[in-house]
Amino acid sequence: MIPTQTKKQEETARQLDTMLNSHRNWVYRLNKTLICGLEPTREMIATDAHMHCTLGNWLETRARKLDIDPETLEHLISLHKSVHDLARKMATTVQDGATIDVHLYDEFLSSSERFVVLMESAYDALVASINATDPLTGAENRSLMTVRLEERRRVATTRNRRAWVIMIDLDHFKSVNDDHGHEVGDRVLKGFAALVRDHIRDDDLFFRYGGEEFLLCISGVSQPTVTRVAERLRKACAGRIYNIKNDLNLSVTASFGIAELAVHEQVADAINAADTAMYAAKKAGRNRIVFDRAGETVT
Ligand code: GH3
Ligand code: MG
Ligand code: MG
Repeated sequence: MIPTQTKKQEETARQLDTMLNSHRNWVYRLNKTLICGLEPTREMIATDAHMHCTLGNWLETRARKLDIDPETLEHLISLHKSVHDLARKMATTVQDGATIDVHLYDEFLSSSERFVVLMESAYDALVASINATDPLTGAENRSLMTVRLEERRRVATTRNRRAWVIMIDLDHFKSVNDDHGHEVGDRVLKGFAALVRDHIRDDDLFFRYGGEEFLLCISGVSQPTVTRVAERLRKACAGRIYNIKNDLNLSVTASFGIAELAVHEQVADAINAADTAMYAAKKAGRNRIVFDRAGETVT
C-alpha cells in the first residue's frame, strides 16, 4: 500500500546508508595502509581511482536512478573524486618512501568530511520527507504542514504570489466503508490522492489533513484560476470510477472549501476559514465548491 515515491525514497536512504559505511571502511583501509606502511593497492594509485571503488561506481550508475537531487549528486561525484585524488597523492608519497605533508593530510580529511556531511544531509532530508508522508496516500501528513504553509504565506507577502488553501472532504465516505469494508475504503482514498496529484503542479502542496479530509495549497494564481483548478478537480473526482471488483464499480464525490492564505492572517485562520467553507458546501448539498467570505457557491 506504500506509494511508489515513498518506496523509492526508502530505497535511496538505505543505499545512501550502505554507501556511507563503504566510504568509512575505505578511509579506514587507506589510513591503515599509510600508517602501517603497507603497499598501496593498485586501486588506490590508479589515475581513475575514484571509479575503482564501490562508492564511485554507485555514484555514477545506480545513484542516478534514485531519489537524489541532481545538483547534490553532481556535488557528491566531484567531492568523491577529489577525496580519491588526495588519497592517491598520499599513497604515492608513501610508495616513494617520503613523508606525507601535513597540509595534504588535512586537506584529505576535510574533503572526506565534506563528502560525509553531504551524504548524511541527503540521507536526513530523505528520512524527513518519508516521515512527513502519509503512507497510505503519499500526501504529506500534518507534521510539517503549518511550517510549509507559513512559508507559502511569506512568499505571498514578499513576492505578491497570492496563495490559497482548499479543504477537501470526501462525501458520505463512511458508507463506502460500511457497505464495502475498510480495505475498499483505503483503495478509494489512495486512488483519490493519485487523482489529485494528477491535477496539481509539483509546486503545489498536498496534505492528508485527517481521515478522508485533504488540504491543498496552491499559490501564484488568481481567484478565478484557483476556482478553475478546484472545479476541474471536483468534476474529475465525481467522474472517477473505482473498479473494485469485476462487478463492483464505485464513485465518490467531494466537497471543497477555499480560503485565501492571506498575508495579514495566521495560517490557522486560513485553514479554519477553508474548513468552514467546506462545511457550507456540505450543507448546500455536497459535491460543490464554496469560497470563504464571499459565501459564493460556484457550482
Ligand atoms: P460527509 O459527507 O458528511 O463528510 O460524510 P462522511 O461519511 O464522509 O463523514 P464521516 O465523518 O461521518 O465519516 C468519515 C469516514 O471516513 C469514517 C471513517 O471510517 C472513514 N475513514 C477515515 N480515515 C480512513 C482511512 O484511513 N481508511 C478508511 N477506509 N476509512 C477512513
Ligand atoms: Mg470528514
Ligand atoms: Mg466526509
